[in-house]
Amino acid sequence: MSATPSPSIAVPHFSSWQQALREAVRSLDELLHWLQLDPHSLTALSHTPFPLRVPHSYVARMQVGHPDDPLLRQILPLRAEQQGAIGFIADPVGDQQAQKTPGLLHKYPNRVLIVATGSCALHCRYCFRRHYPYANTQAQDYTDKLAYIQAHPKITEVILSGGDPLLLSDERLQIWLRGLSTIPHVHTLRLHTRLPIVLPQRITPELLSILSDTRLSVVMVLHANHAQEFNVEVSEALKALRKADILLLNQSVLLRGVNHRPDDLLHLHKILGEHRVMPYYLHLLDKVAGAAHFEVSEAEALSLMHQLRTQLPGYLVPQLVREIAGHPYKQPVFEKT
Ligand code: SF4
Repeated sequence: MSATPSPSIAVPHFSSWQQALREAVRSLDELLHWLQLDPHSLTALSHTPFPLRVPHSYVARMQVGHPDDPLLRQILPLRAEQQGAIGFIADPVGDQQAQKTPGLLHKYPNRVLIVATGSCALHCRYCFRRHYPYANTQAQDYTDKLAYIQAHPKITEVILSGGDPLLLSDERLQIWLRGLSTIPHVHTLRLHTRLPIVLPQRITPELLSILSDTRLSVVMVLHANHAQEFNVEVSEALKALRKADILLLNQSVLLRGVNHRPDDLLHLHKILGEHRVMPYYLHLLDKVAGAAHFEVSEAEALSLMHQLRTQLPGYLVPQLVREIAGHPYKQPVFEKT
């Protein structure tokens, strides 16, 4: 199934991804104006410590006059975020306890995750790092992180994450790639990024050249939650990444109001297959403070997985997982037989 773009939203032209990022929508009034929505019909927040941010090209994929649009729901700050919920906390996945040096998380034996930047092109309201103290991680200082990896020969894979690592400049990415490729035991560079989906302009020939010109095996884990996020520009970006010999996987979060209906998940995984992006994880919501209204119960999730298994070939069925702080791997969630 292809995307359903809103014909009445004219996307402003931006000459570069950097400009598109600078001009991203940051005001609720502007967003609602583009979508022709009445502010009084929504319980939205104008101001929040985790502010609204969304690129125009993503807004253009939303349906005009549709307050329950699945893309809008992912980025619209609602008053529900201010209601406390039992079990929903600032750091639900134990990032702080896994931090070995500022911005380097070592949770699993053979891989580390680097918080390479605190910036994202859009702010997902359900983000498990929405309270992460990015300012304290010295994201730009990479020498201490390289020294840690060098000193731990079991580490074979390094994950650049954030924030979104593709918001780093090409120069900064190149520094990371060069530094990591000097460490003999590091074989794989993994990028956790939402940019090919939300700001496909970022996939430039220069970036592709940097990602191709390395001895490291490059894996990109995308983050798409709904078929409506795919459009021609996203298709082109994914095609270019495939041609650059980058393995493409996708992780989604199961979100009430976004993709909790069987058809949503079926369409998403079919369109991933059409783009030759292999489904990787379907995450149960990480219980981060402010996101309780997105929660889908485990019983509902298992029922959805049953329908996916029934209607999709096995290779398009993601693994349903939950992250438990301190657990040595993401915990698969299975149906009881
Ligand atoms: S792009 Fe990823 S890191 Fe950034 S807000 Fe969304 S979920 Fe969080």
